[in-house]
Amino acid sequence: MQSVKDYFGSLVFDDRVMKAMLSADVYASLRRTIDEEKKLAPGIADAVAAAMRDWAVAHGATHFTHWFQPLTGVTAEKHDSFISPSPDGGVIMEFSGKELIKGEPDASSFPSGGLRATFEARGYTAWDPTSYAFIKGKTLCIPTAFCSYAGHALDKKTPLLRSMEALNRQALRILHLFGNDAVKAVHTSVGPEQEYFLVDKALYDQRPDLRFTGRTLFGAKPPKGQEMDDHYFGVIKPRVAAFMEELNEELWKLGILAKTEHNEVAPAQHELAPIYTTTNAATDQNQLTMEIMQKVALRHGLVCLLHEKPFAGVNGSGKHNNWSIATDAGQNLLSPGDTPYENAQFLLFLCAVLKAVDDYQDLLRISVATAGNDHRLGANEAPPAVVSVFLGDELNAILDAIENEKPYEGVEKKQMKLGVHVLPRFNRDTTDRNRTSPFAFTGNKFEFRMLGSANSIACANIMLNSAVAESLKIYADRLEQAEDFETALHEMIQKTIRDHKRIIFNGNGYDESWIQEATEKRGLLNYRTTADCMPHLLDEKNAQMLISHGVFSEAELRSRCEIMLENYCKSIVIEGNTMVQMARGQILPAVERFTADVARNASAKKALNETLTCAYETGLVRRLSELTDTICVRIAALEKALQKAAGAEDIFAESAVIRDDVLCAMEELRAPCDDAEALTAKSYWPFPNYADLLFSVQ
Ligand code: ADP
Ligand code: MG
Repeated sequence: MQSVKDYFGSLVFDDRVMKAMLSADVYASLRRTIDEEKKLAPGIADAVAAAMRDWAVAHGATHFTHWFQPLTGVTAEKHDSFISPSPDGGVIMEFSGKELIKGEPDASSFPSGGLRATFEARGYTAWDPTSYAFIKGKTLCIPTAFCSYAGHALDKKTPLLRSMEALNRQALRILHLFGNDAVKAVHTSVGPEQEYFLVDKALYDQRPDLRFTGRTLFGAKPPKGQEMDDHYFGVIKPRVAAFMEELNEELWKLGILAKTEHNEVAPAQHELAPIYTTTNAATDQNQLTMEIMQKVALRHGLVCLLHEKPFAGVNGSGKHNNWSIATDAGQNLLSPGDTPYENAQFLLFLCAVLKAVDDYQDLLRISVATAGNDHRLGANEAPPAVVSVFLGDELNAILDAIENEKPYEGVEKKQMKLGVHVLPRFNRDTTDRNRTSPFAFTGNKFEFRMLGSANSIACANIMLNSAVAESLKIYADRLEQAEDFETALHEMIQKTIRDHKRIIFNGNGYDESWIQEATEKRGLLNYRTTADCMPHLLDEKNAQMLISHGVFSEAELRSRCEIMLENYCKSIVIEGNTMVQMARGQILPAVERFTADVARNASAKKALNETLTCAYETGLVRRLSELTDTICVRIAALEKALQKAAGAEDIFAESAVIRDDVLCAMEELRAPCDDAEALTAKSYWPFPNYADLLFSVQ
């Protein structure tokens, strides 16, 4: 058997391959482009393309594609073959630098939110050399950005790269102020922990709701849910283990460092975490991971559900975005240092994050807003929709000491050492854990936990990078002008703590009283739904910040806001329509059949012996008939709400109708259907129930 070491990254045109296949000059030039985000030198592309083609063809590839991430949320690809006719009637395999660098997919049916008129259908894709090309099936996939002809970003990668650039620019200014002149580049890294459910494919196929919407829209509570907590970190079932084994192999071949896997809290729920890497590559790899999870699951007769809330009453799935900033030399800027000076720099970056999260709570909430994730945020299993930061006792005590100009007494270590400089000295071991915080400091990184399992991590990181770049810019502007650097630094850190400490919360984020305190006492935002938060993307302060750092243009922001609201409305309209069909076409007829049989039984019994009361049958028939009456009325009410949404004058109005009318009507329809399920004999029920779905994979 091949060892992992032999096949790891075997399908990736990675550094090892580049070094082996490119001339020293070409390799050095490409490396500069990758590491320092320098423009690609002319002539280099042809050489790289030729090497890529030779490598890909040797690995059995026949096609290439520009692989990109349009705003639909999934990845897109259009395959072209390498073949080109040769004069002797045969073919040669061709791939030019031009084809590598730029593609022109007919992009008229990707969402553009009005950025690209259909007559100008062709967008273009541009090679992103900072993310390695890879082979999927028989196709060489080239990670690309996707833009309109006028240069507007139509994808998630372009603004992500711009936000990384913005953060790089501002962080370098700060590092230079601290005398770190050797640093050439700063980049952010992410390790996204991915949750998902696995259900049996044969059962999945029988549920229109799962097939059309990715979640169950009906389903009575099973006798056993997750109350025993016996699934979390439990023994992995053989079928799941076989799936995970193959998944790991596929991911490893693609150079994805899949590292940990375990069962999650809910039955049938699992998690996969890779080792962290540069944000840009992590984003591409997470998209690829989700795609491969779904593919591999099918090979095992399973379906991988990435929806945030596939089942009511059991935990939903999220994605934890572990985020840090590091220099090109590998110094983690969110890691407390050994010297007071390093610690001062660390504190400044920490403060930049605090300020960013407080100033742009709304953007962070927006970055994770989808119809699916709305079900999760604020439920008793996921962080609330209110954004706050957890720092842990030690850092808290340090910030408190700085704010109030009092000596810092280590929480555990009693010694207090004010360094030669004005800031207190402290140690690295800030290892507290708080699982309920939306944004937790975990020793040398921040873990942003509000992302939904199906979200691309691009959006969250775009907002995070940009907001932190803005804090750093404000700091750099001030410090570059300061007469006395250390005093100015101290004052600024102190001011940040005073101005932004409301965002720090170390308690239980699931507590009802916290939401009250957060919103009433601290004035933090609580946008419960996508419809509530999304319009704030266009707020003056948000737009101005994002535009000033070159992350989005105004037109791009407007288009994104519209597309996100459109996605929200469309997903829920599909759910509403699916409910109507299932209730009318499957649930009502099933309940009717069962009721009729019960009634017939009662008459038959009475015919045999007229003294029998048949109280059981009579009661059941009455109850079921009441339920079918209610279901019928509520189907009509949902249809009316859906019509109202369809008639709304614009996307903002439509999303409000969806939030206020459609979602409520859906809940109201579900309740009597679930009651009917609980009263109806299982053999009559038209699709598999929760117990079947959650407990059948062995
Ligand atoms: P948890 O306790 O949440 O499971 P882990 O320490 O296992 O935390 O890490 C979870 C994720 O964080 C992994 O993907 C890991 O690679 C990533 N991670 C660890 N260190 C960093 C870092 N410095 N920057 C970004 N991500 C990191
Ligand atoms: Mg975690």
